Amino acid sequence: MISVEDALKKIFRILPKNGNEKISLLNACGRVLAKDVLAKNDQPPFSTSAMDGYVISDPAPRVGSSYNLVGEVSAGSTFSGVLGNGEAIRIFTGAPIPVGGKRVIIQENMVIKYNTVTINELNGNETFIRKIGSDFKSGQIFETPKVLTPFHLSLIASMNSSEVTVYKKPTVAIISTGDELVIPGEKRSASQIISSNSFGIYSRLVLAGANPRLLPIAKDTESSLKSILELAMGSDIIVTVGGASVGDYDLVKKVLKTAGMKPEFEKVAMRPGKPLFAGKLNKSAVVGLPGNPVSSLICTEIFLVPAINHFLNMSSNSREVIHVKSAKTIQKNGPREHYMRANYDTLTKLVSVEDRQDSSLLSVLVNSNSLVVRKPNSPQIKKGQLVPTILLN
Ligand code: AMP
Ligand code: MG
Repeated sequence: MISVEDALKKIFRILPKNGNEKISLLNACGRVLAKDVLAKNDQPPFSTSAMDGYVISDPAPRVGSSYNLVGEVSAGSTFSGVLGNGEAIRIFTGAPIPVGGKRVIIQENMVIKYNTVTINELNGNETFIRKIGSDFKSGQIFETPKVLTPFHLSLIASMNSSEVTVYKKPTVAIISTGDELVIPGEKRSASQIISSNSFGIYSRLVLAGANPRLLPIAKDTESSLKSILELAMGSDIIVTVGGASVGDYDLVKKVLKTAGMKPEFEKVAMRPGKPLFAGKLNKSAVVGLPGNPVSSLICTEIFLVPAINHFLNMSSNSREVIHVKSAKTIQKNGPREHYMRANYDTLTKLVSVEDRQDSSLLSVLVNSNSLVVRKPNSPQIKKGQLVPTILLN
């Protein structure tokens, strides 16, 4: 059995190398930027008025100063002349400041009479001019790597790019295995159960930025496993669920090895998740998850999510661990790293491990928002002592 840390390192090592693709900004939210973006223009590209009002050439006007109105400029148009002394031009928000313009007096502070405008109030030294390049300059670099957010995408658009180069999403084939499994809604015999794990794993992988594919459930026979495995060939990652332990019907590793998988490790010193294995099959990384629902979902959090991040060149190589006070006494741990389902209360800042930790209990997992990590052989934790915790979601 190897440690969780070593297992994770080995999984990183067997991941195939990722490539790039160019996509529209409209499809880029949540994707990981692979190439820096260079601003193709200053922003704003010219000095503009921040308000509706009147632009004057006088940098230090006073209340009572009057100006001749000589023209108008609105957003999207230009005033071709030069603004002279004693003159004002009607201007609207977003319009370019005419040559000679020094300051905009907002329309609420001007009195207009015939062709003359007079200042009746001033807002200190505020010019109401947004200077050329005040947001960013042409040539400014927006750097990789970043998970692109809506704010990023507006910034990139204003840099005058309609596309970005991002890392390709890893393709992940998910194979559930077991004679007892049927998909939700399918007719179920008295000895069958619903295949639930694959739905949680699939969804978690989508959230992590992968492109998962749910393959048909494989029966516990070599021929069924082999034929479903064929459908998975060529995926960046092949995830099998179940059939990884030592029972007579646990044939997954055998079939994978016959197909040419080179094993990296079999069994991890963790709870839940001991039967987890990994290997390399052609260019694909294979990760074999245990079948128990909670084990498979926790192993997805602890191994697959960091693996996706690694594949996408994100820096987070493992789940972030915080140290928070335990609301309960926790018994000393055995030789395997124990990931205990728990609830972290953001108000009291206390984490409370669930009483029932059986790896089949999805309802307990659903009520948990965190995992308390118990290192192998760690001593009893008393109420109020700090425990390492991973916040989920
Ligand atoms: P296995 O690892 O195949 O021995 O499965 C361990 C336990 O998990 C058994 O009780 C299985 O019925 C259950 N199990 C396996 N795969 C799934 C699945 N996809 N959804 C729900 N339960 C499963
Ligand atoms: Mg099974």
